[in-house]
This record gives sequence, C-alpha cells and structure tokens, in this order.
Amino acid sequence: MVIVMGVNARQEEIDVVMNKLTEFGFQGHLIRGVNRIVIGAVGDRAVINSLNLEVLPGVEKVIPIIHPFKLVSREVRDEQTTIKVGNAVLGSNKPVVIAGPCAVESREQLMTAARRAAAAGASILRGGTFKPRTSPYSFQGLEEEGLKLMSQAAAETGLATVTEIVDESSLELALNYVDMVQIGARNMQNFRLLQAVGRCGKPVLLKRGFSATIEEWLMSAEYIVSEGNADVVLCERGIRTFEKYTRNTLDLSAVPLVKGLTHLPVIVDPSHATGKRELVVPMSLAAVAAGADGLIIEMHPEPRSALCDGQQSLTPDELDALMLKIVNLSNVLSGVGA
Ligand code: PEP
Ligand code: MN
Repeated sequence: MVIVMGVNARQEEIDVVMNKLTEFGFQGHLIRGVNRIVIGAVGDRAVINSLNLEVLPGVEKVIPIIHPFKLVSREVRDEQTTIKVGNAVLGSNKPVVIAGPCAVESREQLMTAARRAAAAGASILRGGTFKPRTSPYSFQGLEEEGLKLMSQAAAETGLATVTEIVDESSLELALNYVDMVQIGARNMQNFRLLQAVGRCGKPVLLKRGFSATIEEWLMSAEYIVSEGNADVVLCERGIRTFEKYTRNTLDLSAVPLVKGLTHLPVIVDPSHATGKRELVVPMSLAAVAAGADGLIIEMHPEPRSALCDGQQSLTPDELDALMLKIVNLSNVLSGVGA
C-alpha cells in the first residue's frame, strides 16, 4: 500500500503512521519527493486495510499498489531516482558512461584502460575481478589483487569504480575497494545475495538475467530495495533468444518500458547484448535514443589479447569516437543547439 501524506503533514503525524505500521509488524518506507511525502508499506493488504490509516491526521489517502514490485514502482514514487556514484549521477538527463575491460588482467592493462576511459569522458571504470565464467578452466579473475588495482586506477584518474561480486565473501572484499557493486546476469535471482547487497550501503548495478522477464528483474530490484538500499541501477544486457548471430538479443524496448514502471535509472550493456564489437556503437546510440540513463561498455587497450570478451571490446580509439557521438546525440535529444 502507498500511504500518501498531505503536503503539509507534520513530522509527528508521519511518525504516528510509521509507528502504527511497525506495531503491526510492517516495514514503512518513507519517501520524500518534491511534490509529496509517501510511505510505502509492504505486507498483507487486508491487514493494512484493517488499520484504518486514512483516519489518522495528516494522511491524505491510502492506495493499493497493483504491481507485485512495490518500492521500486512508480506507483510509490513517481519522480525519477538519481543515484550518485563518485562524480557521476545516474538518472539525470545526461547519459553516464561506464567503460573498461571485461576483466582486470594486469596493472598495465587496467591503468591504460582507466586513463583512456577517463580521457574519453567516461565517468565510471568497470573491471571484473571475480569472473563467473561458463567454463571452470577459463580465467576466473584476479580477485583481491584486481580490486586493489581498481582502487589505484580510481585514485589516479578520479573515475568511480564498479566490479561484479558473485557471493557474500567477494561482496565483503569488494566493499573495501570499489564504489559500486554489480550483480551479474547469472546471479539476478540469487535472492540471498540480493539481500546482502541490500544491506551493503553502496550503489548496486543489477543486470537482467538472460532468461528473466521484466517483472522478475524488477522483483529482484525489490529484494535489494526492501533491505534498505534504494540505490539500484538496472542494466539491460540482452536476453537469450533463438538468434545465433548475436550473443544475446538486446531488448531495447525494455528501456522505455521499465522506465515507465520504475523510478530507478536504467542503463544498457551493448557489449554483452551483442557480443560483437561492430554492433556496440550503433546499439549504444540506439540505447541513448531510447532514453537509457547510461551505458556500460567493454573497452580493452588490446582487444586481440584480452583474456575475456575481446571480440566485443572496443579499442580506446573506438571509445573516443563513440563518446563524441553520444555527446552529440544527447545534445540533439535534449534540444541543445536545436
Ligand atoms: C560483465 O558485465 O562482466 C558480465 C559478466 O555481464 P553479464 O552478467 O551481463 O553477463
Ligand atoms: Mn565481459
């Protein structure tokens, strides 16, 4: 249920509602928007109805939430959520670019990638340190050594950092070194891990699972937010279809659709979505045109010698060229110079 408080509701009145919810075993989530104050209360609808919250002073109305996802829904909060990661703000009108190698491989590789990502105008550095690989014989990541390199690259370039975590122990380690943690497609429905990142205190990048419906994806975001972490960025990274020319099929319609359903920022990963370097630039531009709040792009100083995903990684020069196109396109979209 959404409890909408009057615009002039006093703090004591809000406290009374919150306390009543707690007394009956519900968690009240207070959301202060620009235009209204709402309290999201998740739980048995019949029991919440029986509390007669409408009659309390300061309460304007009590509305049921129709979608199964509640706190992430636009029904609870209609304003776009913005999330700060380092100096980047996701969910503002300017697309944020996250760039870097699939995996951290060495100091030299990561430092070169970080310098080139920063010079191109990206604001967050990606770099896998715990790699969930299809084969147990493939490179699994440098783990803590890679995390240390990520934090050194951040210190040198001023970029914020994101890395994927695969379990609670990698999460604990990563929190000491990076600004944002990523839940990969393979872990989108690892509910215990979602709850753990919900308590971790840092922004979370939640990728869509390759067979996940949009509703399942948003329910996973709900797991994180319901644990108290509202800083969730959703990432469309392609879904598995019968098509074989591309690694996955980029579901671009998910961008405007999900942005209508949720107030959370939505970004696109054209690298894993297509698996092909030559498709990354057109799909990046298409994603920005569709309203994506940002992109996560694989870039490697020498894609041919990459330990992971070289075929879909841009070169630093290609990233430079793409960034210029993104800036021009966003200016057109926001009407600058029109
Ligand atoms: C990644 O971003 O490194 C990755 C493994 O992506 P996904 O989880 O989308 O496959
Ligand atoms: Mn990759």
